[in-house]
Amino acid sequence: MLLTQKNTIYYHPQGKEISVFEHCFRNQLPLMLKGATGSGKSRFVEYMAQQLDRELISVLCHEETSTVDLLGRYIIKGADTEWIDGPLTQAVRNGAIIYLDEIAEARPDVLVAIHSLTDHRRKLFLDRHHETLDAPPNFMLVASFNPGYQRGYKELKASTRQRFVMMTFHYPNKEIETQIIVNETNIDKNTALKLVNIAAKIRGLSELGLSETISTRLLVDAAKLIYSGLAPRLACRVAIVETLSDEPDIQSSLQDIINMNF
Ligand code: ADP
Repeated sequence: MLLTQKNTIYYHPQGKEISVFEHCFRNQLPLMLKGATGSGKSRFVEYMAQQLDRELISVLCHEETSTVDLLGRYIIKGADTEWIDGPLTQAVRNGAIIYLDEIAEARPDVLVAIHSLTDHRRKLFLDRHHETLDAPPNFMLVASFNPGYQRGYKELKASTRQRFVMMTFHYPNKEIETQIIVNETNIDKNTALKLVNIAAKIRGLSELGLSETISTRLLVDAAKLIYSGLAPRLACRVAIVETLSDEPDIQSSLQDIINMNF
């Protein structure tokens, strides 16, 4: 029997993002999701791919990611060479959704290579393979970007930014974040609310100088540990405190906030 994957991905909307995505898909416009790590961007893209019944190909970009990684390469096979499509080429051929996570981290040649895909041409030039692909209507390019340039992340050039429709992901409000934690982990609502209160407090403390503050992901991780039986203070210590900082003073401030709730 074939097991269907339909309607298995849980995503709690925060605003009009589903509608924006659908309209971008319909109008063949590339979409850029801005927001801190762990704010639900990847989950949202997975959910939308499922809703639109499209294959999703995700690539986490890093400073070594180059066009060869995305477009493809020749490999030696016996006495011959064989062309292997990279993930972006596969997505264009299959009419899939490609998600280029943390696109600003990739090498500059990647941004040049996607130019022709992100404007009216919707073409992918495979120079090494002497081939040009026309993206089918169902192909969609989605990218993410963490605009934390003051904290060591790379910025995106205006010429790249202007090729995308852009949408910012903030951390969800208390009610939604509590629901997400309950849904993701089966933990009781009261404990989820305590975690959300801890997050609200930590997010409000800019004086801690954290390079990145507490995300929904960290709350979900802490809740999973608590649900499986780890003592709440210890669960928060390893899932939240240690993750956010290595500084003993900051760690102890964070632990104080946790101890006030658990
Ligand atoms: P990002 O891609 O922004 O780094 P993710 O999409 O990986 O973040 O989210 C991290 C985790 O947080 C997810 O695995 C999920 O458990 C939870 N999460 C965050 N936002 C949502 C949401 N709106 N609906 C469901 N789960 C969410």
